[in-house]
Order: sequence, then C-alpha cells, then structure tokens
Amino acid sequence: MSLSFRFGTVGSPIGTPKPGGSSNAIKFIHSIGLNCMELGWVQSVRVSEETCAVIKSAGIENDVAISVHAPYFINLNADEVEWPKSRKRLMDAAFYGNLAGATDIIFHPGSYFGGVPADVLKVAIPRLAGCAKELLDAGNPVRLRPETMGKSAMLGSLTDTIEMAVQISGVLPCIDFAHLHARPGDGSMNTIEEWTKELEIMKGRLGEESLKNVHIHLSGIEYGPKGEKNHLPVAESDLNMGGLFSVLRDFKAGGRILCESPIMEEDALNMKKTWMQVSGEVD
Ligand SMILES: [Zn+2]
Repeated sequence: MSLSFRFGTVGSPIGTPKPGGSSNAIKFIHSIGLNCMELGWVQSVRVSEETCAVIKSAGIENDVAISVHAPYFINLNADEVEWPKSRKRLMDAAFYGNLAGATDIIFHPGSYFGGVPADVLKVAIPRLAGCAKELLDAGNPVRLRPETMGKSAMLGSLTDTIEMAVQISGVLPCIDFAHLHARPGDGSMNTIEEWTKELEIMKGRLGEESLKNVHIHLSGIEYGPKGEKNHLPVAESDLNMGGLFSVLRDFKAGGRILCESPIMEEDALNMKKTWMQVSGEVD
C-alpha cells in the first residue's frame, strides 16, 4: 500500500553523498524512504539536455517524482522591459524541467508593487495564460504552479493562486502552508478551522480533483507583522502540523509534500511519520 502523499525535499538533501548532483540526490532520497524531490533551479536554469536525461532516468529508476523550483527572479507583474526576461526564466524551467522528468514547475508569482491585487491579476493572468498556451502548443505537459507567498506585499495569496488556476488550464497552486501562516503576520492560518475554510474554497473553485493532486511546501516559519522572516525546523516553530494533516486527511487529499525546513530530509521524514500517524496509512 502506498501513502496518499509523496514526501521529499526542495533542493538536494543535506546527506547527499559526494560528488552530489541531482541524480545522486534522487538516489539518496529513495534510499532514506522518501519519494519526491523538487530540483532547486532557484538562481538560474543552467543545465544541459544530457544532464536532464540523466536526472529523468534517476527519477524513474528510483520511483522519485520530480518537480522544479524555477528561478526566484520571475515576476508576472514586471514592467514591459523586465517581463520578457522573467518569462524566459519560467519557460526555460518548464522546457528543461520537462526534459528532466519534472511534472510540475513551481515559481514565485511576483510583487504587487503596491498595487491592488485585483488590478495586478489583470496583468499577471494574461501573461501566465500566454506561457501555459505556449507550453500546450509545444506539447509540453508540465503544470505551472504559482506558489503562495509568505509576505503580504507579494502577489501570491491563496486567492491569487486559485484565481490563476481557475482562469488558466495547466495552472494549479503550489500551497506553501508555512507561507500562508506567516503571510497575515498575526499567527493566524494555523488552525483546523482556518485550513478547512481555505480547502473548502479550493474545492469549490477548482473541483475535488484538485485536492487529489496538491503540491505542498512545508516547514516551520518565523514571521513578523509583514510576514515571513525565515524558515525553521518544524519542532522549533509553532506550526500545528498534526492539525494540518488531519484536515488534509479529512479532505481525502493527496499529492506531494516537499519539505523546506533547514534540516531538510530529517523534517521530511518527520512529516512522513506524522502523516502516517494522523492518516493511519501504512507505507
Ligand atoms: Zn518557493
């Protein structure tokens, strides 16, 4: 029997044996009992087609599902000069990610630059729709996943990302529950009632199917009035992980849970263990 969620890390695990590299990281992920990984292409996409082929076969051989974290420097609300560069970063991540066997491309949607979210979405959504259409026309099956962001000044509330997904086929949210908890800055979004409400909204707008294929980022998090400060090990944070998992269980959710804690694979394994306790599922 397999679990409803795959568990893994964003970026190569700390314990990846030398000389490292993504294919060794994937083998290591499998060896410690995890089964997904997000390639951290966060500075730039600098990978050859040959390397992508090696990563893809490592994923298949080790039954490790692969996602890509696209470069940080993407902004759907960039000005006319910057936007083509942002777009290229996202499209490069999608092109090489697909070659590397990734099914999902995660990216930070950008900044409001002080604008009203509804107005910013009027700029962001057509741009993202253009990217999704180009991938579809090219036969590239990756899903683009705007991530929920940890600061209130950033494009990327859960509402923003759901709105993008409603309007564009091939787009679904990447739900970073640590970011959603940090974003309001007041310690909210950390209870069963709040998560239940959010997932009801998601189910209502994106359908039950969207809950079967949730892409989650998770860690502990430190925050202030403006939101996220830094990621923490879960045990050093106030995150009610057991409560969150009970909500995911009650919604019969499944997909991937990728750990972004500083102790990476250690917390990813803690997450897997907690999920098994809460859900009663056995590996
Ligand atoms: Zn991210």
